[in-house]
Order: sequence, then C-alpha cells, then structure tokens
Amino acid sequence: MKEMIISNLKEVQDRIKNACELSGRNASEVQLLLATKTVPFEKIKMAIDAGATLIGENKMQELRDKDPGLKKVNIERHFIGHLQTNKIKDVLKYVSCIQSLDRLHLAQELDRQLQKENRNLDVFIQVNTSFEESKFGLRPDEAVSFIREIKKYDTLNIKGLMTIGLLDVEKEKMQPSLRLLRLIRDEIYAAGIDNVKELKLSMGMSQDLELAIAEGSNMVRIGTSVFGNRFLGKEIWNENIAE
Ligand SMILES: *Cc1c(COP(=O)(O)O)cnc(C)c1O
Repeated sequence: MKEMIISNLKEVQDRIKNACELSGRNASEVQLLLATKTVPFEKIKMAIDAGATLIGENKMQELRDKDPGLKKVNIERHFIGHLQTNKIKDVLKYVSCIQSLDRLHLAQELDRQLQKENRNLDVFIQVNTSFEESKFGLRPDEAVSFIREIKKYDTLNIKGLMTIGLLDVEKEKMQPSLRLLRLIRDEIYAAGIDNVKELKLSMGMSQDLELAIAEGSNMVRIGTSVFGNRFLGKEIWNENIAE
C-alpha cells in the first residue's frame, strides 16, 4: 500500500511537471492538494510521509474523525465540499481555508463566526463553470458582483477562484469550463476592485489536471490518481448526501 501511494504521488508530481513544461510554466506555480474524502488517516499519513503538504476534505464528519491523527502531523487542511451554514463552527476548528464559498449568506455567517473567534480565513470563491445543475458554485456572471459584496468582510482573505470542471472523455468538452475560470479572473481584474489582486485558480482533478494547468491552474486537487478509486455509488461533492 505504502509503495503504491508513493509511486502514485510521484507520478502525479511528474504529470504536473510535464504539464507545466508544455505550457512554459514553472512547476512551483502549481500547488498539489490531495483530495482525501473517504481516505482513512493511515493512508493520508503515507502520502504525508512521502511529501504531501496540503489536503482537502469535503465533509465535516471526516475532518472530525481524522483530526486526532492529522493534528499531530504538519499538514495544511482546506475544506473543498459544499458547506452548510450550521457546520461552519465545526469546520473552522480544522481548516485554514474554505474553497467552496459560493453564496452571500455563507460569507455573512462565516464572518460572524470569525469575528467571534477573532481570526481571519482564506477563501476561494467557487464558480460553476460547467453549468451543470448538480454542481454548486456561483454562476459565472455573478462572480464580479459577489466579490464586490464580500470584500466588506475583513475576516475573509480572498485567495482565488475554484471550480470543478466538466468531466468527460473528450478534451474538447472539458477545456471550456477550465478556461472560463481564467476568463472570470480576468474579468475581476478588469473590474479593478480595490485590494483584489493575484487571485489563484484552484482547478484540475485526476482526469483533467494537464488541461487545467494549460489553462493557468495554480492548484490541482487530486484524489483518485493518488489513493485509487473511491468505490462510491455517487460522487460526494457535498455535505448533503447522507453517509
Ligand atoms: C474528490 C474531489 C476532487 C478530486 O477528484 P479526483 O477525480 O478523485 O482526483 C477534487 N475536488 C473536489 C472538490 C473533490 O470533491
């Protein structure tokens, strides 16, 4: 098991490196986040021993269950699943960044809790660039006004934009939803919103990491290619689906 994870991780790092070379980018511009939903602590630990420094979880329950082990190792944790407001307080115990900020009410409630705790939080704005009903995220045309709105919350450090691209067997079908996130960032820059600069793009998963890097990704989120298939009936993008 350990050998498999080490070699998978190495393979993913090589894919990132090659994709960067192909698009003339420096590999240091692309961070690797391991998506660890359904992966037990023991397996995550193997990846950490092999050099992983950043993981993302989709569910509060899993954050809580794995916390005793994870808090002892030096690992940065992000939340990448759909976040319900009643879970905010719990999720904030475990993560330094929420990548799935996708509605004003959530921003407001996060701000409220963060003020209570007298702390700040890094956030990515999730945009639904694939226009799929099943996915969360802002509509692309809402992004600029959303950023203008949430800028008033000093507790939220807007770090970038996140999307889950359209997954398909054909490259031509996957590319537009990745490119769109970059275009949205350009649009935000062009709007000249005070203090909003250097937004990172969190996009690219096991299937589309090369395409995402070609489109400017700064953070790929990889699960399957490192840990293997999750054997789930359906994808867990969010907290709403029952355990
Ligand atoms: C599961 C997940 C990933 C990783 O997907 P893989 O296809 O397993 O690499 C990335 N981002 C989010 C939000 C996820 O839920």
